[in-house]
Amino acid sequence: MQEKGTISIHTENIFPIIKKFLYSDHEIFLRELVSNAVDATQKIKRLASIGQFNGQLGDLKVEVSFNETAKTLTISDKGLGMTAEEIKKYINQVAFSGAEEFVEKFKDSKDANEIIGKFGMGFYSAFMVADHVEIQTLSYQDGAEPARWICDGSTEFEISTGNKTERGTDIILHINKDSEEFLNQNKLQEILDKYGRFLPVPIKLGNKTTQEPDGDDENGKPKYKSVEVDNIINNTSPIWTKAPSELKDEDYLNFYKELYPFSEDPLFWIHLNVDYPFNLTGVLYFPKLKNDFEMQRNKIKLFSRQVFITDEVKDVVPEFLMLLHGVIDSPDIPLNVSRSFLQADSAVKKINSYITKKVADKLADLFRNDRKAFESKWTDIGLFVKYGMISEEKFYDKAKDFALLTNTKSEYFTLEEYREKVKPVQTDKEDNVVYLYSTDINKQDGFIQSANKKNYDVLLMNSPIDTHFISQLEQKLEKTSLKRVDSDVADKLIKKEDAPAHILNEEESGKVKAIFEKAITKPNMQVEIESLNPDELPVIVTMDEFMRRMKDMAQMGGGGMSFYGAMPDNYKVAVNGNHKLISKILKSDNEEEQIKLARQAFDLALISQGLLNGAELTDFVNRSVELI
Ligand code: ADP
Ligand code: MG
Repeated sequence: MQEKGTISIHTENIFPIIKKFLYSDHEIFLRELVSNAVDATQKIKRLASIGQFNGQLGDLKVEVSFNETAKTLTISDKGLGMTAEEIKKYINQVAFSGAEEFVEKFKDSKDANEIIGKFGMGFYSAFMVADHVEIQTLSYQDGAEPARWICDGSTEFEISTGNKTERGTDIILHINKDSEEFLNQNKLQEILDKYGRFLPVPIKLGNKTTQEPDGDDENGKPKYKSVEVDNIINNTSPIWTKAPSELKDEDYLNFYKELYPFSEDPLFWIHLNVDYPFNLTGVLYFPKLKNDFEMQRNKIKLFSRQVFITDEVKDVVPEFLMLLHGVIDSPDIPLNVSRSFLQADSAVKKINSYITKKVADKLADLFRNDRKAFESKWTDIGLFVKYGMISEEKFYDKAKDFALLTNTKSEYFTLEEYREKVKPVQTDKEDNVVYLYSTDINKQDGFIQSANKKNYDVLLMNSPIDTHFISQLEQKLEKTSLKRVDSDVADKLIKKEDAPAHILNEEESGKVKAIFEKAITKPNMQVEIESLNPDELPVIVTMDEFMRRMKDMAQMGGGGMSFYGAMPDNYKVAVNGNHKLISKILKSDNEEEQIKLARQAFDLALISQGLLNGAELTDFVNRSVELI
């Protein structure tokens, strides 16, 4: 039997176009051909299981081997094989029409990079690396004839009787000049590791040999022979394909190690398992976070029936969970399309909200079942939770019951508990509850102590996300505002009716103000005489909450905020009119001494906040020595 023919497709010269599109991603041909071999193997197993195939299944591996001299790369399977008729139907029509569709869709697209690797080119992708592709196949069907097909990627093909004597298919690629890199054990190993590590059928990479002892030669020296290594590259039943009830913690931890060999153990994990309204399995791990978040992104691997597809899971996984690790496997995700399609796809949207819900449920469970453990992991978990609460309304509603606030004494509270705790003391005269927070307990220690003296509690808000989390809390919590502990003097942080009485009269206040204005040579310092507790420091330097937030936002690149970024740092210098030192300054009749003392008190305030340095610090030290 010998037949030549023309494949009828409607796009001229598909090949050059595809070659251009897929140029940077040639290696996917191997993923496609090995997946086809796996599919064919799974199909014969299924036929056997439903009694439609009664022969021996045999050893069902898929083998990848190459011959450097002949410049061929062969993918062999013992799957269901094809008859000549089936080749015409499936290869000539299905495979080529897939390619045709691809070209039709994307020939006018400007964004080739978006498309590369997103479109499963299937069998046709073999022509990216091969001048000729040959199929030798024998169908499982009774009395089937072996068939051979050869084609150079153009619309011309040739079909004839083949030479296969066992069931299955060999795809033989006659590798082209530019693609000889694929005739290399390490290269093939690398690609198979990437795409095929968890395929459901054993994949053997051939050509690997080892030297084994082979008796002695005539001189009595030991002889060696080359033995082919049975180099199976994959784990055919990774944990996400199993039921959670079959698995122990150890299995999850081992799998994590297998995926991320040098990582610390994860904090906990979630086993995903749905079959309606879409199909999805997977295991998501909460990693211990490192400072460099960028390094930890894109660690979730997306599979489709155990074939690795990508680790860009944007859109499938909600943005706030992008730092999670693990695997997601779904045959329902349309992997063969471009990113913009993925975004609009309804299955993807459903998967996204399912994952959000599962994560929230898991966290709620952990919190309920072992609050101590939950608290101990909060530094890591908190980041996800806060991010999620800020970015997704639905998640906020679930998380508000287990999200924790930490104070400077390392105590943990839920939002509700915290409100109950501070409400009695920290409600201002307008009935607002004021939460105080510190971003740096070392720098703001003086302020924290002053607040504590007034029985105020101070929250610790020192992670990068907290700036946003604070605004979110203010929006969500009723009659609540948050103030950084150093945004005003302790007496004024929470405005009450009973402000301490002023010792100084108006004239005295004016004098003190004038002295301090002379003493303070730094720009952007606004002197104000305040009536504070006599135990407070004589001078306290603060930056207004609103102003500081605007500047923080400008620094983080908040749109429209650059106006604030350009403003100088404006501080308020609160002079405690009730402090003994101020009375002393007033009483002195030597102006030079008055200024010196004022300057000294001001410098002490700066020092307590780490704001004094350079020549000013030197001046301060010299002046202190003199005063002693
Ligand atoms: P897809 O796998 O998406 O159907 P492909 O272009 O990869 O598209 O393959 C086209 C068709 O060729 C397959 O659906 C299958 O019927 C057939 N085929 C390809 N490779 C094999 C194989 N190794 N054994 C049996 N049939 C195969
Ligand atoms: Mg395929």
